[in-house]
Amino acid sequence: MTVRGRIAFVGLGNMGGAMIGHLVAAGYDVRGFDLSPAACEAARGVGVEVAGSLAEALEGADTLLTMLPAGLHVLSVFEEAAPRLQAGALHLDCSTIDLASARRLHELAAERGLLSVDAPVSGGTGGAKGATLTFMAGGSSDALARAQPMLERMGKRVVACGAGGAGQAAKICNNMILGISMIGVCEAFVLGERLGLTHQALFDVASTSSGQCWSLSTYCPVPGPVPTSPANDTYRPGFASALMAKDLTLSQEAARDAGAATPLGHAAHEIYERLVAAGEGGRDFSAVIEFLRRQSDNGEMGR
Ligand code: NAD
Repeated sequence: MTVRGRIAFVGLGNMGGAMIGHLVAAGYDVRGFDLSPAACEAARGVGVEVAGSLAEALEGADTLLTMLPAGLHVLSVFEEAAPRLQAGALHLDCSTIDLASARRLHELAAERGLLSVDAPVSGGTGGAKGATLTFMAGGSSDALARAQPMLERMGKRVVACGAGGAGQAAKICNNMILGISMIGVCEAFVLGERLGLTHQALFDVASTSSGQCWSLSTYCPVPGPVPTSPANDTYRPGFASALMAKDLTLSQEAARDAGAATPLGHAAHEIYERLVAAGEGGRDFSAVIEFLRRQSDNGEMGR
């Protein structure tokens, strides 16, 4: 098998733990690292070489790949890792993080002569397992050229979005659409129920009319019309409400910093934060329909 390059892969959680295997299978010399012993054990269990420390993972590495929860984790790992990387090495961050941290990471990399790409993903854990993720990538053309072969092993589509930070910008804009559209579809089903419409009748009309969107046609929030959607499986995620709340927080921070009016994004953020506060963060984000039914029952009509 051809050895393509050495990668230090940091963050072996739900996503990283699945993505790393595709790089190993493609012949990359990969060492994983995670602070969680359970995540390390799981990775070892599927044949991944796991280092005992970040420093050990970085020995001889020409790529630092991070798949971590938030900007502060990525910044902290990068600060520790950067002095151990040779000039010209690549930092490839696939985490979903705030735009300010993403841009700061590109600046820090440039100051140290490193290449950097932000490449958050859509496709969730199923996409990570099946290597069908979509990557939204931001960075210089040199950096993107270095990252591309690795991204192609972990996903089916790589969209070059522009300069450093553009990948994160595209991700949070997309997920703001998703959060808003899911609530919109759920509101229509709740209203339809109160008007005596069957779910199937509303689905048959809206999925072939101007109300058509992914949240309806592919991820229908009521059981029946789309048998593969989480609504058919007690709203087991899928994409958890807590992750949607996180992405809407990022979009609201970015909207505030950029001076963009996003009133529906703001409302969607509040609704998902309320779901999380009610202990429902672990359920699929389409379970917001149950929240709307409860609000209807309680006569809370506005918000
Ligand atoms: P996760 O919490 O399962 O995994 C994160 C891992 O990072 C954990 O194992 C944790 O121990 C490790 N970690 C944290 N700080 C560390 C450090 N300093 N050094 C080493 N390891 C450290 O999260 P996930 O679901 O794998 O998500 C990872 C990223 O992907 C997040 O930014 C998330 O928003 C994004 N994402 C997730 C999904 C999804 O469906 N899970 C979908 C799209 C994007």
